[in-house]
Amino acid sequence: MKIKADDKEFELYIPSEELHQRIQEIGQQLSQQFKEEKPLLLGILNGSFMFMADISRTLDFELEIEFVKLSSYSGDSSTGQVSHEISLKKSVEGRTIIIVEDIIDTGLTIYNFIETLKSKNPKTVYLVALLSKPVAHQFPIHIDLVGFEIPNEFVVGYGLDYNGFGRNYDAIYKVC
Ligand code: 5GP
Repeated sequence: MKIKADDKEFELYIPSEELHQRIQEIGQQLSQQFKEEKPLLLGILNGSFMFMADISRTLDFELEIEFVKLSSYSGDSSTGQVSHEISLKKSVEGRTIIIVEDIIDTGLTIYNFIETLKSKNPKTVYLVALLSKPVAHQFPIHIDLVGFEIPNEFVVGYGLDYNGFGRNYDAIYKVC
């Protein structure tokens, strides 16, 4: 199956059932590890909105949800700069923070954000990413939990966009 987003075509890469099966597994792991911690789930907008909605619904213990908005991408490539378009107002001091990220490419966005976060003295910072492109990583990041490792290809769907389009699909598509 193919979809169109702006001026490009994309083909099905990770079907909905596979995506949701893995999200259930991630949820079980987070539950075991963080049930007693009253964690703060911190989503990175815009791309993580769908993953956050689904992962948080697998967790039936006390937690908070917040979002920040960071961006480093323009079209289908990294600009090399991270801008904080909506920053975190809540105190993270002494808290267990679970970062919920859609995709890690070079690692620039998340590396930069985690450095900022750590300077605010959280108890723990745990990084969950639905997708990761290991061959593209260029920064010293440690991803605690990954949904799927993928090759260095541009993907859309399930919150991820190309020029603003393609976020609404309940599956991951790769560029044709
Ligand atoms: P990084 O800073 O790790 O290079 O890039 C992370 C951000 O770039 C992600 O949060 C996402 O917004 C965007 N990005 C990286 N790779 C892709 C991709 O394959 N597809 C889409 N839609 N966005 C991507």
